[in-house]
Amino acid sequence: MDYGYQGKVAVITGGSSGIGLATVRFLLEQGAKVAFCARNEGRLDDVRRVLARDHDDDRILTQALSVLDPEAVGAFADAVRDRWGSCDLLVNNAGQGRVSTFADTTDADWREEYELKLFSQIHPIRAFLPLLRESHGSIVAVNSLLAYQPEPHMVCTSSARAGVQNMLKSLSLELAPEVRVNSVLLGLIESGQWTRRFAEREDQSQSRAEWYGNLAAKKGIPLGRLGDPTEAAAAIAFLGSRAASYITGAQLDVSGGLARHI
Ligand code: NDP
Repeated sequence: MDYGYQGKVAVITGGSSGIGLATVRFLLEQGAKVAFCARNEGRLDDVRRVLARDHDDDRILTQALSVLDPEAVGAFADAVRDRWGSCDLLVNNAGQGRVSTFADTTDADWREEYELKLFSQIHPIRAFLPLLRESHGSIVAVNSLLAYQPEPHMVCTSSARAGVQNMLKSLSLELAPEVRVNSVLLGLIESGQWTRRFAEREDQSQSRAEWYGNLAAKKGIPLGRLGDPTEAAAAIAFLGSRAASYITGAQLDVSGGLARHI
């Protein structure tokens, strides 16, 4: 399907791994110019080298930064403006979940989690908004089903994610009609954070297939498996594209049927 990304400019935060990287690849394959950031410069450079084997290096821009550093994010937006002069899509994907119950979440943990979840949206949106307005572009936030379906063992990340959805709804009104704002609500996607949890599994004799199979069964995922990052990327690309031109303030759940709310 042609999403209309040929020659368009897309920015993805947290593009060096997992869902962000799958989105970078998807958009490059669709002909977009893609800028992406992450903190670890070495991994960013490695990923860029691999991507440049299949795609023109002129269509790739990378910058090492934390989305929690507003000046660095501002400089990233300047670099995109200097290189390509526009931004049609911002995908706010950088981040990770926090596993903790109320009993073992300190005040510092709560603050850190709220800072990560909210400011990983606020800083890039503020920095790229002038370009997005000029292009009549769109924003896609990568969020979790936990926003609507909280889990006690992920109490603070669930709560912060609900706050993000609330903020995005307000933004979809404030930024209309120039800029569309949507989100994907992910269930369990087989990427970075699950790879790390698999590596730290209690029973090291369990194979990858067994561990992921048991996880899907334990969570009761109707489609019987975790999602692939490419499946999350396809949903992100759809919401950001002209195919979704009459959709704003919406969330698309990508959870293999795990969502229980109506
Ligand atoms: P990965 O760990 O594979 O990738 C995360 C990416 O974000 C990396 O490129 C990482 O690079 C970057 N990143 C993390 N923190 C920052 C930061 N402060 N500033 C800039 N870049 C950052 O994770 P996933 O692909 O699994 O997750 C992507 C998003 O989806 C996350 O926001 C996650 O919370 C969310 N999500 C994932 C789910 C899943 O099941 N996988 C479920 C629900 C939500 P570096 O470390 O070098 O900065």
